[in-house]
Amino acid sequence: MSPPYLLLDIDGVLIPFPGADGSTPATHVRYDIVPTGRSADNPVTIWLNPAHGRLLMDVIRAGLVTPVWCTSWRQDAAALIGPLLDLPTWPYVDLPRPRITTSHPNGYLWKRDHVHTWLGDAPAVWIDDDFTSLDHDWAAERTIRGAATLLIQSDPRVGLQAEHLAEARAWARRLLAVRTAAPATPSETEAA
Ligand SMILES: [Mg+2]
Repeated sequence: MSPPYLLLDIDGVLIPFPGADGSTPATHVRYDIVPTGRSADNPVTIWLNPAHGRLLMDVIRAGLVTPVWCTSWRQDAAALIGPLLDLPTWPYVDLPRPRITTSHPNGYLWKRDHVHTWLGDAPAVWIDDDFTSLDHDWAAERTIRGAATLLIQSDPRVGLQAEHLAEARAWARRLLAVRTAAPATPSETEAA
């Protein structure tokens, strides 16, 4: 049984919002990077916590989740940001570029419909800073339908914390244990 997906946002999660004075957390290292489509003389400054790479790899190496980027950084998440945290290349949800002025154009996170389609019936833990109550309702409904879904919401000014990944790890461990313990269906028994 494959492990659940771990959908991971970047802005507000790996890159917390700066303070009102432009300050960034002392835990984070600043980098200038050149996103796709931008000229080399016009880089973007980001800040990352090196400890996040190790924390993420602890969960992934344990085989508890299958990581996927789910961020408006799209392919640049894997190409530019992951390597700065010593992360291997993961797939990413190829999100569109909607013309929206709010991240909740329909009252819920704009990424969600795309994630819904992308996931199909797969279980997932999704870490993002921008869920609304409608997203939490969606997660509860998916779970009831048998596609276990956990939303973990970071404070965008603080970003990812070790306890978020501990929660994801514990959830995935329970989910995989339940699946392993479930009695085989007749078809599985025949196949065996
Ligand atoms: Mg975000």
